[in-house]
Amino acid sequence: MRDLAKLPKAHLHLHFTGSMRVPTLRDLAAGHGVRLPSALTDGDPLRVPADERGWFRFQRLYDAARACVRSEADMRRLVDEAAADDAAEGSRRLEIQVDPTSYAPFVGGLTPAVEIVLDAARAASAAHDVEVAVVVAASRMRHPLDARTLARLAARYAGDGPGEVVGFGLSNDERRGDTAEFAAAFRIARRAGLASVPHGGELLGPAHVRDVVDALHPDRLGHGVRAGEDPALLAELVEREVALEVCPASNVGLGVYPDTAAVPLRPLVEAGARVALGADDPLLFSSRLLDQYVAAREVHGFTDAELADLARSSVRASRASDRTKRRMLSGVDDWLVAPDPAGAPLSSASHPSAG
Ligand SMILES: [Zn+2]
Repeated sequence: MRDLAKLPKAHLHLHFTGSMRVPTLRDLAAGHGVRLPSALTDGDPLRVPADERGWFRFQRLYDAARACVRSEADMRRLVDEAAADDAAEGSRRLEIQVDPTSYAPFVGGLTPAVEIVLDAARAASAAHDVEVAVVVAASRMRHPLDARTLARLAARYAGDGPGEVVGFGLSNDERRGDTAEFAAAFRIARRAGLASVPHGGELLGPAHVRDVVDALHPDRLGHGVRAGEDPALLAELVEREVALEVCPASNVGLGVYPDTAAVPLRPLVEAGARVALGADDPLLFSSRLLDQYVAAREVHGFTDAELADLARSSVRASRASDRTKRRMLSGVDDWLVAPDPAGAPLSSASHPSAG
């Protein structure tokens, strides 16, 4: 079996605070005198039911972690460690998602909050073997006018390279807010050339995905796994090349599926969907990017050729430059043509004199 950590891939669904290492969270909490709920530091993956109470528990823990990120240094550390961890797992392109609103009060406003993340992303790209770009995300819990403000801010930093904003997202509980009211913010983002990458189709099914598609014209859906419950909708997403950022550990953690085997990864891929595996919030789900590829292999039975296709799909769904995409795709080809270590004894057995 080939080493999946060496398979070049793009990571398109990772939240800023949710990317944090547990020891880092402990450090920051100690430094700021914050008491943490034990569920954040026990290393056990979060498991909640897929209802409002479950989401409330998830959100409370997420907020507790976010409350520990209180300075420019904290923010820079998170980006650097997310990049280092991704690079170690073969991610060559990370598009990290941040809603700057919660960090803004500690660093003098929304603009410095975004600029710190972008500058840290540039520095991390130079320090680690991964390009780090940024998705600015608005929250369904806040007023749609706040989303417009964020979209205008994001638009100022639009680009495709390290430390640039590549997309605009919409996160938080899919059951909250009226999707259509966020359309104006997404129009601003799209006009600036940003990808439309809202969450949708995890907690809610096809009817909600339809709303998101009609109102926000996504290039990628955060999750989108439940689109497959309506084959005609899924066929439309395939036809329009709307990529799905599938995060199996998150789906299981949030109770959308009872276990990893129930996540419909293979049916989505077989329907032709452009799937990019992501980790969402490793801090809460105790599962990083590489774990998602390992699950595809071990739980869903993906062969190395199919895993290479998943990686290619993630690269194509990214907003990386054509040059970066070509380099990554050729890296995937190299990974697949390299001899499978498990197959090696066969060739050495047929040439016993080789040594
Ligand atoms: Zn997410």
